[in-house]
Amino acid sequence: MSYSFDDKNAWLKYDNRSKKKLMDFCEGYRKFISENKTERECASALIKEATAKGFKDITTVKKIKAGDKLYYNKMGKALALFVIGKEPLRNGMKILGAHIDSPRLDVKQNPLYEDNEFALLDTHYYGGIKKYQWVTLPMAIHGVICKKDGSVINVNFGDNPGDPVVCISDILIHLGSDQLAKKGSVVVEGEDLNVTVGSMPLKKEEKEAVKKNVLAILAKKYGMEEKDFMSCELEVVPAGDARDLGFDSSMIIGYGQDDRVCAYTSAQAIFDVSNADRTYVCLLVDKEEIGSVGATGMHSRFFEDAVCEILTKSGSYSELDLRLAMSNSHMLSSDVSAAFDPNYPSVFEKKNAAFFGYGCVFNKFTGARGKSGSNDANPEYIAKIRKILDEGNVSYQTAELGKVDAGGGGTIAYIMGNYGMNVIDSGVAVLNMHAPWEITSKVDIYEAYNTYKVFLQNI
Ligand code: MN
Ligand code: MN
Repeated sequence: MSYSFDDKNAWLKYDNRSKKKLMDFCEGYRKFISENKTERECASALIKEATAKGFKDITTVKKIKAGDKLYYNKMGKALALFVIGKEPLRNGMKILGAHIDSPRLDVKQNPLYEDNEFALLDTHYYGGIKKYQWVTLPMAIHGVICKKDGSVINVNFGDNPGDPVVCISDILIHLGSDQLAKKGSVVVEGEDLNVTVGSMPLKKEEKEAVKKNVLAILAKKYGMEEKDFMSCELEVVPAGDARDLGFDSSMIIGYGQDDRVCAYTSAQAIFDVSNADRTYVCLLVDKEEIGSVGATGMHSRFFEDAVCEILTKSGSYSELDLRLAMSNSHMLSSDVSAAFDPNYPSVFEKKNAAFFGYGCVFNKFTGARGKSGSNDANPEYIAKIRKILDEGNVSYQTAELGKVDAGGGGTIAYIMGNYGMNVIDSGVAVLNMHAPWEITSKVDIYEAYNTYKVFLQNI
């Protein structure tokens, strides 16, 4: 096998004691992604953890000074954590960025119907998925029901102990010959992703008795009526916990590791380092999977708003200060990379592929075809990063997202690049990215966390 350069597998660096620390850290991560499957759940869990560690809501603070720990919450779906540095903000920030939304099936706004005495929920998929992977699995429904009276009801159906689950059915193999002759992209089509949620009729009802029974259950459980679906944000996600993977428990299989693996490690890094020279930031955004759009995506001005508020409350706001704060910043824009898959080697170019066990992955660029849609990081910046990671004894590797012209993908890096800051794509390698269950290597998770700590302290 040929890996990037001649580095060693990072597991070999660890003795029993340091391996235990690594395993304990990854157990915290495994629990986090088991309990938090939506952008809202991730944001609220991290706000809770940040609050316990002394972070305060920016909007509630009158004056801001060095050493303050603050958070900015955008609609409960995007989050920025700040540790205010000793140097003025115009000297730039050290930013760790990642996204907390993941591919899933969103329940439509008029979703519930009855067909041959089944009750089903119609969905619209979110992000890029191979639709055939999402059928015949136990699924859960997470999200919120927002009612006209202003109340917001949290929903977690299918992941509480003892909960039933829901499921999308598929054609049995015995009758599947026509289906299997189709192209992979249409084996299961978008409008076929209907979730089975009931089959028991309500007594004394003539028409749509199964649907009426489901509505009666929803009314009792959540106090909702059918029209309330219009103001719901309900996400159908794989049910169940993330698990250790392999005879050696060296990996984790779980839903939504793109990009919670980078979000969790970035957040833990900012929690665990102190004494900021320049201001530390951990930026966790929504809507990356659909193009970073909307108020909570990276294209939104919410991060700039937060920086404005900090400048103003530390008594030094000017348009120039804001622009310098952004353009003098250094950022690791973290998102998962495609891990080399021994089952499908043909889509990779091995010298420039990410391998499990070789640490945090740096992509000078992402994009498709001739790097379209990419941020292309400056080599001067990459050299600085190499220096601090080598000095910090952190394992890292360089990769592209697969072979030239095999496909491609984008991240939030180029959006931050628009401010003129130094930014590079980095992150953890993932097997079967965007499948209901994705796989990561524990040593890579831990090396990413160490990469982020070294970056905050030394860049
Ligand atoms: Mn993705
Ligand atoms: Mn991603």
